[in-house]
Amino acid sequence: MDRLRRVGRKMTSKHRKPPPIYEHPIRTPVVNDQTLGSGNLRMAVMLPVGENENEWIAYHLVDFFKQITMLYGSTILPYCTDESCPTMSAGQNKYFWAEFIILDYVIMSASEYVDKLMTWVSELIDDESVFPSLLNKPFSANFKAICSDIVRRLFRVYAHIYIDHIHHIRNPMLDEEAHLNTSFRHFILFAQEFQLIPMNELAPLQKIIDRLTKH
Ligand SMILES: [Zn+2]
Repeated sequence: MDRLRRVGRKMTSKHRKPPPIYEHPIRTPVVNDQTLGSGNLRMAVMLPVGENENEWIAYHLVDFFKQITMLYGSTILPYCTDESCPTMSAGQNKYFWAEFIILDYVIMSASEYVDKLMTWVSELIDDESVFPSLLNKPFSANFKAICSDIVRRLFRVYAHIYIDHIHHIRNPMLDEEAHLNTSFRHFILFAQEFQLIPMNELAPLQKIIDRLTKH
């Protein structure tokens, strides 16, 4: 599957269409849109009373996955070439793809890395044994550990966009930087609330995180 390249081709063709929205019949908890709209995201990410934590995390991860797919696929991909980004990076930080089973590190361009990452996440989301869509089906015992791995890797896409492509986001004709900041702020507050990402992973974007989360 080559989801992101398909999206990129669409966005650079004469007949521009919005990228396909990733859909999954995930169980949908009640989301307080009013709180989200008011900007109080720190409270909005908290687990509501009576809500199942795994369902809450699953719902948000699917949403973050869609947001990052849109941000990278529609805005960044045309600029993220093998020449501009021969490795997945956030400035001096280099990221290599590690396969779980064989624990082998593979060097690839940033666009290949992101494509592989998004395919890996979409396959996990589609896996009923990991992200069950039926109410009476339990989550696996290692669900939160899997989510932590997803969050850790999705963070790298934000890091690559912020560090290596921010000039492509800063187009005065678009409002992409504000959109990126809103998406990333929500993502990082959620990851912190449920301790889904180690502190040392955050280092490349620590200043941005401090700025976006100080209120
Ligand atoms: Zn790139």
